[in-house]
Amino acid sequence: MARVEYTDWTIPVAQVGSRAGQTSRIEREFPAPSGIGDTIVGVKEGAPIHVDGQFDSIVDGLIFTGTLTAPVHAVCARCDKNLDGDWSEQVTAFFPYEEEDSKKNENEDVDIIAGEEESSDVYPLIDNGAFADIEPLLRDTFADALPLKPLCKPDCKGLCPQCGVDLNEHPEHKHDVVDNRFAGLEALKEQLEREQNE
Ligand SMILES: [Zn+2]
Ligand SMILES: [Zn+2]
Repeated sequence: MARVEYTDWTIPVAQVGSRAGQTSRIEREFPAPSGIGDTIVGVKEGAPIHVDGQFDSIVDGLIFTGTLTAPVHAVCARCDKNLDGDWSEQVTAFFPYEEEDSKKNENEDVDIIAGEEESSDVYPLIDNGAFADIEPLLRDTFADALPLKPLCKPDCKGLCPQCGVDLNEHPEHKHDVVDNRFAGLEALKEQLEREQNE
């Protein structure tokens, strides 16, 4: 018997999985797992992720289709503008029934399945198909969907590197460039000219 770890993300699916052709609706909130994004863009651990979808049983497993909606925190990577908001993703995931004697070769099997499906949208059922664990589905979905460098708009001009003024609001903003290296060269040049004239 497989070990069962009941978590906030364990969904009972024994009923729907009892034979092919059944459907089980699910609509509720789950806490966001850790590891989605970072301080620039991500979903805070424990934030409510709304799951609205259904499990459909087929011969060799369960198909989950639905919409996941999470409160995403984000700041523009160029101008620091706050971009917090809800982010929805449509997902389709396959939860294959585990075979009784396949546990020993778990890693091998997962590799083969992942290769055939050519995606990571395959997730394990636990306790002989009694439960689906959607924690990795939630994490993968948003970790993959969120941009690494969110922008408030594609052509965001960012902040002035010298004083931090928002260049979107002040497109004409600039500084008179005073470069001390040239000031030093000027002095040297004057000195050389003086010596040549002496
Ligand atoms: Zn911006
Ligand atoms: Zn400036």
